[in-house]
Amino acid sequence: MTGIYVHLPFCPYICPYCDFAKWPHKQSAARRYMDALHREIDAAQAAGGEHTVFLGGGTPNTYSPAEIAELLARIASKFSAARPPEVTIEVNPELVSAAALAAYAAAGVTRLSIGVQSFVEAEIRTLGRRHDAGQVRDAVAAARSAGIGSVSLDLIFAVPGQTKESWRRSLERAIALQPDHVSAYGLTIEDGTPYADWRDSEPSAFPDQDLEGDLYEIAIDTLEKAGFEHYEISNFALPGHRCAHNANYWANGEYAGFGVGAASYRNGVRSTHTRDLEAYVAAASQGLKIPDQSERLEGAQRAGEAVMLALRTAQGLSFAAFKERYGLEFLEYYASIVEPYRAAGLLEVDTAGARLTRRGRFVANDICATFITLP
Ligand code: SF4
Repeated sequence: MTGIYVHLPFCPYICPYCDFAKWPHKQSAARRYMDALHREIDAAQAAGGEHTVFLGGGTPNTYSPAEIAELLARIASKFSAARPPEVTIEVNPELVSAAALAAYAAAGVTRLSIGVQSFVEAEIRTLGRRHDAGQVRDAVAAARSAGIGSVSLDLIFAVPGQTKESWRRSLERAIALQPDHVSAYGLTIEDGTPYADWRDSEPSAFPDQDLEGDLYEIAIDTLEKAGFEHYEISNFALPGHRCAHNANYWANGEYAGFGVGAASYRNGVRSTHTRDLEAYVAAASQGLKIPDQSERLEGAQRAGEAVMLALRTAQGLSFAAFKERYGLEFLEYYASIVEPYRAAGLLEVDTAGARLTRRGRFVANDICATFITLP
């Protein structure tokens, strides 16, 4: 196992576009949940070896620094003697304090991922967020003072009302804070969210595909010009600051997820815990099996999944590694898919491997999906 993900699902408020497993923060529910999480971690099979830790959410920093430190100590005592090389915590900027960041650093946190989304006041409000740019700046400065070695900023494009100019402004303000890593995600509208209702009633409020493509291109150009490597579809890093935890996902590596809605991938089986908070807490608190959905990925499905993940990355797919792991000659097996993409200039192939071209990255999801649908 090389990745440990822990889901902390409480948020100070709920954003209207969000489809994650999340609930409004309530002290009593958050405490019960943390106790259940402790039980789940304690009951897990111990595993040695090097691993990364990622505390995601939700908003993990709705928990106190002492609770985060206790959680990390518990994970460490279960899974390794040495400190993990990378421990990330996602934070909401308005809940960050210098004292909390110092406590995180002392507890082993090496990487801070700040949910910024935009530096443009109107867009922040449209997204339902309540922070301001000053709080982001203070959080980055406090992280540096605390000695947290890697700071990542999350941004969103294709927000209703966003223009090329306002997106450029957000990117430039992000770069000015000198982060080590930037994630730039296109807003996806998920069914069942208030944003889906908004789009249904007022589709013209949302950027069309052409504008979304232009915004993505602006992100790539602006961040690359500032020295960031575009190492995955949505992720950009300065040298030495790629996210190792996510790199393990894209390499189709194994990981264990703890908490409500958390996913795991072990021994060829992908499983996802229930998204029912009460059902999770009830099972975990009693040391029972957490209700989940699981599927064993085999043969073509497992190989297709690996291709889909590898093509998300800048280095793409290595033919030798693919053959060694799945026993398949990539170019022979996927000839019917690869050739049209190559001819259309979306996929670049050389003797060592295959990767998306710059144009291919714009339709990455469509291209990647075709590799898992091959029977
Ligand atoms: S803070 Fe993040 S997890 Fe919480 S509601 Fe907003 S988008 Fe969802």
